[in-house]
Amino acid sequence: MPNTPQGIDFYHTGLCRHPECIACRGGSLRPISFPAMAAHIHADGGMLFDTGYAEHFKTATQYFPEKLYALTTPVTFNQPSLKQQLGDKADTISKIFLSHLHADHIAGLKDFPEIEIICSQKALSLLENKISRFAKLKQGFLPQLLPNDFQQRLTLIEKFPQIKLSPDLRPFEYGYKIANGIIAIELSGHAKGHYGILSENVLLIADAAWQIENITQNRPPHWISSLVMDNYRQFQETLKKLQTLYSHNHDLIIIPSHCEKTLSSLWTKNENL
Ligand SMILES: [Zn+2]
Repeated sequence: MPNTPQGIDFYHTGLCRHPECIACRGGSLRPISFPAMAAHIHADGGMLFDTGYAEHFKTATQYFPEKLYALTTPVTFNQPSLKQQLGDKADTISKIFLSHLHADHIAGLKDFPEIEIICSQKALSLLENKISRFAKLKQGFLPQLLPNDFQQRLTLIEKFPQIKLSPDLRPFEYGYKIANGIIAIELSGHAKGHYGILSENVLLIADAAWQIENITQNRPPHWISSLVMDNYRQFQETLKKLQTLYSHNHDLIIIPSHCEKTLSSLWTKNENL
């Protein structure tokens, strides 16, 4: 890690484990931790980037078919909830940005009532009634995790002003200005309407890569991971773009949401708990 990200706190909200070789080509069969990260971006009044895992995940996966999610991806919670970890800072948050609607990114939503929620129009297709409960589950989406007033509190990413990005972010060209100092950038492929956030020199890429080596060493995830992705070809294209960006922009700090190696030195210490 060349720099330490400023103005962002990173929170560990729980973890699951998968073999290293699934997450990164050339990895071993040894299971590695996939922590679920949520970030508090201080810029412009305070915004959450995802909410990570929370106890609501257990409630949402009590019964079949949703129980299959918990059985195939056992989650370990060893820490207080994100809301508890934030303490007084939770009161300063005015927006929650959802990179995508997978359960490990939205499970804490119900702990933050009344706060504006931002996600992509494309992600909303998962809410459609014509998609069966089982099909939603297959896409990692548990509708029970959404608060009842989700739609009323929602602002679509695409409603924010579209802006041209600075040349040092090529090959990414356009983003949406979510707030002062916060830009959403589409990183398609992993899930429907999958977005990252740029704040200063930090790019939060959510699940556009699982391990930082997917980008820095051109070691993408195993093809079997395509089974849980929305569009594997787009995922590969996005990964290539991130590799290009990484190759020429050495000031940018790229942070995947589940990379233990990247995050282990960044977790916010909770002295008050
Ligand atoms: Zn995901």
